Amino acid sequence: MNLRRIDADEVKNNIVNLKQITFEVTDACNLQCQYCGYGDLYFGYDKRELKYMTFDQAKLILDYLVNIWENNNTASLNQKTYISFYGGEPLLNMKLIKSVIDYVEQIRVSRNFIFSMTTNAMLLYKYMDYLVEKKINLLISLDGDEFSQSYRVTKSGKNSFEKVFKNVKLLQRMYPEYFLNHVNFNSVLHKRNCVEDIFSFIKKEFGKQPTISELNNSGIKPNMIEEFERTYKNKRESLMASENYEKLSEELFLSEPKTHDLLLYLHQYSGNVFKDYNSLFIDENNYVYTPSGTCSPFSKKMFITVNGKILQCEKIDHTFFLGQITKKDVLLNFDDIANKYNTFLDKLAGQCAVCYRNKSCIQCLYYIKGIESDKMPICQGYMNKDSFDDYSSYCLNHLASHPELYAKLMNDVIVE
Ligand code: SF4
Ligand code: SF4
Repeated sequence: MNLRRIDADEVKNNIVNLKQITFEVTDACNLQCQYCGYGDLYFGYDKRELKYMTFDQAKLILDYLVNIWENNNTASLNQKTYISFYGGEPLLNMKLIKSVIDYVEQIRVSRNFIFSMTTNAMLLYKYMDYLVEKKINLLISLDGDEFSQSYRVTKSGKNSFEKVFKNVKLLQRMYPEYFLNHVNFNSVLHKRNCVEDIFSFIKKEFGKQPTISELNNSGIKPNMIEEFERTYKNKRESLMASENYEKLSEELFLSEPKTHDLLLYLHQYSGNVFKDYNSLFIDENNYVYTPSGTCSPFSKKMFITVNGKILQCEKIDHTFFLGQITKKDVLLNFDDIANKYNTFLDKLAGQCAVCYRNKSCIQCLYYIKGIESDKMPICQGYMNKDSFDDYSSYCLNHLASHPELYAKLMNDVIVE
């Protein structure tokens, strides 16, 4: 197997085809969720200082991107780029959001812009007319019923459920079509809820299937590990514990962890799936692999923090920024970015070469402890032959006893 490396052209090409740019429009929030990724449990993010992104900052990066897009016509036809607003709580900085949308609407490049936002919905009643007018896709954070929502509290410790639920119901009543087409939910799984309850609550109240996320288990402060363990719940275990497991598993299907395992197995190891005709001729001995399952910089998105740091996404530590927006300029050096990324890949290459999971790895390198240090990091996801054989027999046995599932995975699911 040969090790893949990236270069400046690949980074540039990712930006030419940028699918999403996410702005952290403020680090302020009107809630103080007890498990917040920017709260007491974690380290690795910039100190929260109640800052608000200015239009000048946002304009600098938009102009920079437009210049690249205008001068490189290698972007795919009908390229879509999501402009996303994130926080803190983004609705606290509506002034900036409106200015960005006005500005983006004036941009004349051949791509379609789609707006989206992740919100806790506390201020939804105030801004819903505008969100509807601009068809902004909303991802509402709601963990389920009142008890399930009880980690998501106001600064005074009050459960946010009543207010959030009322706001979301108002939106649903006032704008049913928008609600149907542009609103989705994300629920965090923890000790006070379970997959089945979240799923049935959101479905019954709003007719939607939520995405269900686990708490991030990397970057936890050493003195908060016990607190984290008191709060954390595993999605797979929560599903298995459900009395209606089979039915629930079928309804969740694509967001069911098992589906993910089986798809990876079928696509990477079964020998039954080929992406295109060229893949039929791949020489296994010259297979080029990328250590870890980390996306190439900006191939999925670009994240801009309120302090002007430019990162690959919002889910990783702010220490891994790849560029910076200064008062007057955007500093992004494609060679430096490629070198930095390749250095991380090199650190993992030895382990990944002998890891049995290396063809279907989903481990993001930025979550591997010590990846930024001088020492060799140890990947927590490494799989030896015995573990791989267990995984393999689990997948094969499960597919053999569920032939209808095999047919569904092969015929109905498109993996991009
Ligand atoms: S899981 Fe295996 S292939 Fe993936 S990063 Fe870890 S060692 Fe490398
Ligand atoms: S978590 Fe890692 S792999 Fe996933 S989008 Fe972010 S940088 Fe890429």
